[in-house]
Amino acid sequence: MKTIGLLGGMSWESTASYYKALNEGIKAKFGGLHSAKICMYSVNFDEIEQLQHQGKWADTAVILADAAKSVERAGADFLMICTNTMHKVVPEIEAQINIPILHIADATAQRLVQDGILKVGLLGTQFTMEQDFYKGRLQEEFDIEVIVPNKGDREVVHQVIYNELCRGIINESSQEQYLKIITHLHEQGAQAVILGCTEIALLVNQASTCIPLYDTTEIHAQQGVAFALKDTF
Ligand code: GLU
Repeated sequence: MKTIGLLGGMSWESTASYYKALNEGIKAKFGGLHSAKICMYSVNFDEIEQLQHQGKWADTAVILADAAKSVERAGADFLMICTNTMHKVVPEIEAQINIPILHIADATAQRLVQDGILKVGLLGTQFTMEQDFYKGRLQEEFDIEVIVPNKGDREVVHQVIYNELCRGIINESSQEQYLKIITHLHEQGAQAVILGCTEIALLVNQASTCIPLYDTTEIHAQQGVAFALKDTF
């Protein structure tokens, strides 16, 4: 079994979901006391969040590349970044390590392609919904059309992530707002909706709607387990 490297803490609420899902995945495969081999570097999210909102992405890249190097030195065979948003700086991180990164958007896109989804709605931080590093990858590399909520709804989705979900706060009214936004994306032709922020599944899940949801945390973790068990990369 390979050792999984995690860059976590963005936020730790969703890193906990990763930790659980990875260990459950290995246990499901081997049973008994088997658990995942994991090296994790968990950052202080307050520092990252401030830099994100100041647009200082190069500074976030320095912090995450240093953390990634530590994870590599600690013995990780590959790296998973436990947040969609910070995949924005994957090229900078990749340039400084020698182990592969399992990209969250690729893992999700592969699942969408498998399921024949051609047009999808995307929820996430404003950075993920509005910039090209994520949407562009789905569109250009996987030929999946991506639509996002309108400006006001994007603001709502973003604020709930930073002010509630990343702080461990789960509000019923926010859940209702998210479900309305999901329904609206479906009405605009989205066959499914990507929960493109690793905390969103803490608020809404497949039991709350019949519109197909793609939880990036779950999909990424499942792919991490499969990768850890593969003989080769
Ligand atoms: N975990 C979130 C994501 O998947 C948001 C926190 C962050 O900005 O990293 O995008």
